[in-house]
Amino acid sequence: MTASDSHDKAIGMMNLSQVRRRIAQVQRQLLALGPLHPGSISEQYNVCGQPGCRCKDPHQPQKHGPYYQLSFTWRGKSSTRFLRPEQVEPMRQKVANYKRLRELMNEWVSLGVELERAEREKEKHTVGH
Ligand SMILES: [Zn+2]
Repeated sequence: MTASDSHDKAIGMMNLSQVRRRIAQVQRQLLALGPLHPGSISEQYNVCGQPGCRCKDPHQPQKHGPYYQLSFTWRGKSSTRFLRPEQVEPMRQKVANYKRLRELMNEWVSLGVELERAEREKEKHTVGH
């Protein structure tokens, strides 16, 4: 089960004021997000061209690294960038913030759909009484 499935299930059980309260909460959380960046960070280990280097040891090769790289696609363009060691942690935070942004956006949309549905439902019950 994905996170959005569990959101949707929980949203289905909320009443109108709970949905409105949760939307306000999501909005506050969006405003509080720090710097962000799309993508993912991967670790690379390399072999060099130097003869007799430890990375080519026939028995216990020890590759160089880790080197960190950020890969992302934005507006149809894919990019990969190497990160200096001191850039890795800040970038992890930015990538996490971006992921959070997407989750919050999806939740807000789900809440909006639910709010609309619940309001129509309420109207239907009110009309005819
Ligand atoms: Zn080497």
